[in-house]
Amino acid sequence: MKITLLGTGTPQPDIHKFGTSTLIEAAGFRILVDAGRGAVARLAQIDVPVGSIDMVLFSHFHSDHYAALPDIVMTGAIPASWGGRKKRLKIVGPEGVQRVTEGLWAFTSADRDIRIADREIDPEMHRVEAEVLQEGVIFEQNDLKITAFEVDHGDFVKPAFGYRVDYAGQSFVHSHDTRYSENLIRHAQGADVLVHEVAMARPKTLERHPHSRTVLEHHITPVEVGRVFSQIKPKLAMLTHLVLKGPDAPGIDEMLEEVGQSYAMPVIVARDLTVIRFGAAISTYSGETLRG
Ligand SMILES: [Zn+2]
Ligand SMILES: [Zn+2]
Repeated sequence: MKITLLGTGTPQPDIHKFGTSTLIEAAGFRILVDAGRGAVARLAQIDVPVGSIDMVLFSHFHSDHYAALPDIVMTGAIPASWGGRKKRLKIVGPEGVQRVTEGLWAFTSADRDIRIADREIDPEMHRVEAEVLQEGVIFEQNDLKITAFEVDHGDFVKPAFGYRVDYAGQSFVHSHDTRYSENLIRHAQGADVLVHEVAMARPKTLERHPHSRTVLEHHITPVEVGRVFSQIKPKLAMLTHLVLKGPDAPGIDEMLEEVGQSYAMPVIVARDLTVIRFGAAISTYSGETLRG
């Protein structure tokens, strides 16, 4: 099994940190969890044709987690080495996924009409098969099992999901966006790798800027994420989706110092194209720098 964190960012536009998107490659499948800004460009950087994605799962519908969906659908339908989808894309997400896919069909129609007239694409490749997500096992084939579990991303983002991936006796858990969640801790027991989000702002920022408080209320603090890691004790603890809220945003070192108050083992901060490779050992490297 190979996991590539295609995007590790937030809604804040950043060329180095695209929106959240994670590629799972195992048992002959290519599955994306979330499709934030730039996911198609990141796939191209590691030579994975967007048309080869079998399924896209969504954690929740904040823009930084699904903005690339139209790109995946339209670009993947083009019969080129980097596109070439041969079957309908399956999309699984929380309540609201139907609204997204209905809008998607209308949104893609202008492109579709041109390409049909040019006999360029099979219009069915623009059609997606949507499924509403419930907590539990959502995929199980060839020893690859994916389980969705509810997390706590605030009162108006319900339900929001994290994912656990089990393959060949090894396991990977991604929190996606959440506050401290007991349900996550339950579902992440025994996980080899735990990737978690984190957020921080200075007390003065929270005091003076009510919007920063609203944002932080949807996320977990560094001390709390350390408590989550301490209870799971993964072989590899990784942070992604760093919400370091300005003005006067705290730095990564400062954030890690606080994680260290409640977790004494090593923590890795993910960047776009960080790979987690599961084999006899679990290894991590940067996908782009080590490519061919
Ligand atoms: Zn997010
Ligand atoms: Zn979110």
